Amino acid sequence: MKRISIAIDGLSASGKSTLAQGIAKALNYLYVDTGAMYRAVALFALREKLIDREGQLDEEGMKASLQRVYLTFRFNPGTGRGEICLNGRNVEKEIRSHEVSKHVSVVARVPEVREKLVLAQQRMGSHGGVVMDGRDIGTVVLPEAEVKFFMTADIEARGKRRHKELVRRGRSVSFGDVLDNLRSRDRIDSTRDHSPLVQADDAIVIDNSDLTIEEQFDHMMACVQQVLNA
Ligand code: C5P
Repeated sequence: MKRISIAIDGLSASGKSTLAQGIAKALNYLYVDTGAMYRAVALFALREKLIDREGQLDEEGMKASLQRVYLTFRFNPGTGRGEICLNGRNVEKEIRSHEVSKHVSVVARVPEVREKLVLAQQRMGSHGGVVMDGRDIGTVVLPEAEVKFFMTADIEARGKRRHKELVRRGRSVSFGDVLDNLRSRDRIDSTRDHSPLVQADDAIVIDNSDLTIEEQFDHMMACVQQVLNA
């Protein structure tokens, strides 16, 4: 059986990672959460005080410190997935904070940050057998991916999902703040100069506003099987 590459891009909180993980598990493929990598760099920037109170990033400082950012994924047998480590320390919990969500998109638009992470992502995907999710996977990171999905859902549906997830994790954040964050990230991610979030021409669009996870999974797996059987 050939081992292909599957790219899943889309808007913030559109359910990419849930589906990507499910598909990777079903096929016994590697799952790469590229958003976790950008979040870890944003966490680093916050810790290094490279982001001021107004949310402005010191871009020169960011570029100069990039060589001190070392990212790896460590497999957690409990969750069955790789967890992101920043300079050897597991930061999977910290990167999901609202604080990191608020600042990640200004960090992710720095070309040098993208170059470093894209290179690492391409290395991880170089042997196939991978499901990678993010914003530029089908267009920049793995443009030759055999299957590409672009996931979207209306803002209310995405906001409700993300808010529920944060509350479940014990975070106190209002629904309004979650909506503001999603809107602002969508805007920055879609309008930045370098590898903005755009739908690849050959991507299969999944609007999941009214679809259950099972419905999406079945549809996406059927698309993948079609390519595997071709
Ligand atoms: O996927 P997630 O929402 O965790 O991603 C967090 C942020 O990382 C996005 O809002 C975006 O700014 C950035 N990102 C990116 N390119 C990717 C993955 C994530 O710019 N491939």
